[in-house]
Amino acid sequence: MSMTTEFATYAQKLFDDVAQLGTDTLGVSRPAYSATETRVLEYLQREAQAHGILTMRDAGDNLLFSLPEEAEAERFVLVGSHVDSVPQGGNYDGLAGVAAGLFCLIKAREEGRRFARPVRVIAMRAEESHWFGPCYIGSKSLTGQLGKAELAAKHREDGRTLESHMRDLSIDVDSILAGKPLLCMDSVLEYIEVHIEQGPMLVEKRLPVAVVSGIRGNFRHKKITCIGEAGHSGAVPRAYRHDPVFALADLLSRLDDSWLTILQKGDDLVLTSGMVATDPQTHSLSRIPGKITFSFDCRSQSDTALEGMRVLLREEMEQVENTRRVRFELDEEMSSAPALMAESVIQSLRKAMVQTGLEPFVMPSGGGHDAAIFANAGVPSGMIFLRNRNGSHNPEEALDMADFLLGAEVLYNHLTVTGGAA
Ligand SMILES: [Zn+2]
Repeated sequence: MSMTTEFATYAQKLFDDVAQLGTDTLGVSRPAYSATETRVLEYLQREAQAHGILTMRDAGDNLLFSLPEEAEAERFVLVGSHVDSVPQGGNYDGLAGVAAGLFCLIKAREEGRRFARPVRVIAMRAEESHWFGPCYIGSKSLTGQLGKAELAAKHREDGRTLESHMRDLSIDVDSILAGKPLLCMDSVLEYIEVHIEQGPMLVEKRLPVAVVSGIRGNFRHKKITCIGEAGHSGAVPRAYRHDPVFALADLLSRLDDSWLTILQKGDDLVLTSGMVATDPQTHSLSRIPGKITFSFDCRSQSDTALEGMRVLLREEMEQVENTRRVRFELDEEMSSAPALMAESVIQSLRKAMVQTGLEPFVMPSGGGHDAAIFANAGVPSGMIFLRNRNGSHNPEEALDMADFLLGAEVLYNHLTVTGGAA
């Protein structure tokens, strides 16, 4: 099969078959560690075997694929993504990366090619945070980063702990509890993940594929409170107001100015206040509200930019407190570190894009991926983004098979020709 029509037909069939296994009233639901997720792995296993690909399960009950002649390789490039989904999500988030890896194995087998370095493809379970709370459960347990508290997290629907779900699948929880990686980390030369882009960049730029420079880290506050003083909307003159809504507007417009400046300096940054509310019990058209609550989500690929915004947020709050005579109260901060993709891998993937006949394009990832976990565990990592319409985590995700195959070909070219030192 060449990466052309025959492959496109097969790719569509594979995606459609997997979608069938997890069909929901809208989109697909493939809960982490569920029977549906297991059925998807079993299906992929049969498909791979039908094409002469060797399969095995690992200690995390993930599915691994390799060329038969590379089955004994002690060190390998790990290629993969996850097969679980959010409830009523799209079919391509995660699955596209597993399929791309599998296609490279099938193509190599049919062409009788060896990879520059041995390749192992992995279909991981449990990446989405929806089901238990913690995200990247599969890759964290492989790399020894899943904590005790996370194992005690309860399933959103059945209330049973993550540990109990994992034990049901005979996953080696004792090693996880001991902080031991389920995957021998010395064996992983590199981690590569193909994933649909979850934002609009590639659609807007009319590009089918991109190389990812890094995965944004973040700091977040779920609930910041701005406390002012309630009053009559007609009776209190401006000079006597302590209006938390105008204070928040001030704060956000100040932060927005800094955001622009930071972007103009060439740094990466996105800011969001996704939840903003006055109290519905007391708010009214004719009342100055006494307080407002809002969330704040700041993401960047740069640790320095994150730290700068962390300081700036406090400074600007202080300014606004003085001018608007209000008070801000921060809840506890949640944060995750940015994960940069390895420069050598980025360069190799860029070359693979050129070899595929594409203009190399490099962009950051706004969403989190398993690649961040591998990168933060010290594995040189890289990602390939595929153009995808309508965002992700929803049933409207749309991936053209032509784009999928171009992304798979970039991966194939990286693995066969431009791969780094053995
Ligand atoms: Zn994903």
